Amino acid sequence: MMNTGWNFHTTYNKLSPDFYSTVHPVPADKPELILLNSRLADELGLDFSIVDRSQLASIFTGNQLPEGAEPISQAYAGHQFGHFTMLGDGRAIVLGEHLAPDGQRYDIQFKGTGRTPYSRSGDGRATLYSMLREYLISEALFHLGIPASGSLAVTETGQPVYRETVHPGAVLTRVASSHIRIGTFEFAARFLSPDKRQELLDYTISRHYPDLEETENKALGLLNRVALKLLNLVIEWMRVGFIHGVLNTDNMSIAGESIDFGPCAFMNGFDPATAFSSVDTNKRYAFGNQPGIVQWNLGVFAGTLLPFIDKNEDKARESAQEVIQKFVSQFEEEWYRMMGNKLGFKKTGKQEKELINQLMSWMQRSKADYTNTFLIIAKPAETPDYFNTDQEFLSWYDQWIAVLEKQHGGLSEARLRMTNINPVYIPRNHIVEEALTKASSHGDYTNFHTLLERLKRPYREQWEAKDLQSIPPGFDEKYKTYCGT
Ligand code: AMP
Ligand code: MG
Repeated sequence: MMNTGWNFHTTYNKLSPDFYSTVHPVPADKPELILLNSRLADELGLDFSIVDRSQLASIFTGNQLPEGAEPISQAYAGHQFGHFTMLGDGRAIVLGEHLAPDGQRYDIQFKGTGRTPYSRSGDGRATLYSMLREYLISEALFHLGIPASGSLAVTETGQPVYRETVHPGAVLTRVASSHIRIGTFEFAARFLSPDKRQELLDYTISRHYPDLEETENKALGLLNRVALKLLNLVIEWMRVGFIHGVLNTDNMSIAGESIDFGPCAFMNGFDPATAFSSVDTNKRYAFGNQPGIVQWNLGVFAGTLLPFIDKNEDKARESAQEVIQKFVSQFEEEWYRMMGNKLGFKKTGKQEKELINQLMSWMQRSKADYTNTFLIIAKPAETPDYFNTDQEFLSWYDQWIAVLEKQHGGLSEARLRMTNINPVYIPRNHIVEEALTKASSHGDYTNFHTLLERLKRPYREQWEAKDLQSIPPGFDEKYKTYCGT
């Protein structure tokens, strides 16, 4: 095959075979290329310009494996909605680890290429709708500046997939720093011997946190690092109103990237209780619960590391507890800092925190749009009427301006800071759904591509993108997302 730049140097398959199974993609009948991400291909040092469309379709459905690929499915477990379950890649195959020109290592993974030994009762397939959704959301997060797995391609397989209704089948090519999850450690802790657990620990450190190799307590070091990565990740989600929707421990990457976009959504009107997932009946994974859930997941991770933190179980527990408890105050500190940035503050002290709290309560009471509010306050000249008539808001606004002036530079300087942190455009749920339905059910990609282009510049005003700033009345009350299988 022509040399497109694939550079596989896979290491995961050097681990003990307990951690994976060798699996080959089930060939697709009529592969067809739907999307190829040229930005990501460039970053990976891949050049597909010399490959024709039918061959690309064949490559990205797994019919023709790239040179050097050594496909495996990974074993893992996880706590789903709080309950332990054995899982594993039920519909995903890692082709291998590709080294990009900058030396970065990436898992290249197919999602939707058929059953694996971990499929349980599933068919190993994916619908076009859900793979397009993952492509769109991962691109949106990337351009918002939020760590996330990437989407390199979407193909149609030509085979139907049966859910409540019949869907076109599709394959997504996913790119991630790795697919090691908290659930991978749970799998090892529950089912494997101490030396194999040690093997996973050493592997993870050398792959993601190699500077810990020289430290005295590597396991505690890893726990600290992962806690910081996930803290940063959840802060970023809170910044833009992202609701992951299914924050089970198997969907938490050790590398700190957003992964596994099933029922995820973006919040419109501010309310910490916002949850759209049809299966999240108790709102466990609601917007405002995410930090607490990440902390809970870290607790599960810590549990898998205890014997490596200290031979004395009490001591191990104490050290781990300290990291997990510290998460609360660290989160609070970082959250205020982030919100302070959203409001253009140069520093976030007591008075600024008070203003943040007041604004959040006002937003919640008035169901103000989480994205638009920060844009509107930065541009009072364009303020809509309801802001002018709300006395409570106006008094808050005056105090905010006074604080900005005390910090020197006033609103004009604050506005500059605010534009780089407050997105103008997020993937509004109703527009996402319309674009996905048109594309997956009618083969009409016009809306999909328009939306994708707009989401590539989320911080810059685009006069033609105004429709991304208003929500049809009553939409949120009825909106539901599904696990996207
Ligand atoms: P997710 O909700 O996508 O994180 O998936 C949870 C688990 O179910 C993972 O282990 C998936 O690999 C598995 N899974 C999801 N959909 C399917 C499917 N269609 N066939 C087999 N396994 C699946
Ligand atoms: Mg998952």
